[in-house]
Amino acid sequence: MTLELASERVVPKPWGKTDLRPWSELGRDGAPIGELWFERADPSAPEPSLLLKLLFTDEALSIQVHPNDAFAQQIGLPHGKTEAWYILSADPEAKLALGLKHKLTASQLRTAIGNGSLPDLVHWQQVQTGDAVLVAAGTIHAIGAGLVIAEIQQHSDATFRLFDYGRGRELHVDSAVGAATPGPPLPHAVAQRLNHARLVVARSPYFVFEQIDLPSDSCWEIDASSETWILLLDGNASFNLLTVRPGQAVYVEKQQAHLRAGPSGTKALMAYVAIEPHHARLVGRKAEQLDTMTVRIPPTPGATRTAPRRSRASRRS
Ligand SMILES: [Zn+2]
Repeated sequence: MTLELASERVVPKPWGKTDLRPWSELGRDGAPIGELWFERADPSAPEPSLLLKLLFTDEALSIQVHPNDAFAQQIGLPHGKTEAWYILSADPEAKLALGLKHKLTASQLRTAIGNGSLPDLVHWQQVQTGDAVLVAAGTIHAIGAGLVIAEIQQHSDATFRLFDYGRGRELHVDSAVGAATPGPPLPHAVAQRLNHARLVVARSPYFVFEQIDLPSDSCWEIDASSETWILLLDGNASFNLLTVRPGQAVYVEKQQAHLRAGPSGTKALMAYVAIEPHHARLVGRKAEQLDTMTVRIPPTPGATRTAPRRSRASRRS
């Protein structure tokens, strides 16, 4: 049973930003920060299945690919890496690359890495705040400059670089060619609205990623049967007695918790381990009260049967 404020690990990167506001006050000593990793407060806690990060880009990242589970295990890694991005802010021309414009053979990909033509072959797309992208393992991808991104991913650092804009970092040609599915990305599932508060922005076999918008002072129940991360984007919120502000993240597992939205409402991202959206992960408490009231209506005169009070479990299923 865990409900805790995640700690933040600073990861310097040559392409990072020196000003992370409004998401963080960290990094104002001049060294560029590329990533903030949200981690368990206790460093000796078991490693979570998912890794939640913020990415800050002042320059383009390398063009890269991550292996799937099968390829990762062949080279001795525990699992591969499927990830999803949610754009928190984007400069006007900011863009991402997802997949290639057309299919290549492995040897054509190797040639494109060797002669530096890969940036012309990847499929760049402009993005704006609120866009979300699923990056399935094996998809060649890149993140351009001028973006702040919330990323959820399988907890893995298996990254193979195919092109790095002459920054001199190592490329991983053999692994990248072996791990990549060099072609257009699989069609992206459209966002799925679950109710007025919950919008599934990406889903994979490893996680469900939702945007949640909660009205001011509304009360909710979280039932985190599996690992759940919530990143505050706008407005404060309290989780039981823990008050959380934008840029902070909460880790919840095997625990029920009360969430109260702040006076200006709460916008957040929620990611959890599941293969499909999970209703009980976030349920409005008002709905429960109404449900209880329905059960309490007194029987009509002469009637002997009272409405059976449904169990908590069945209300939430
Ligand atoms: Zn990546």
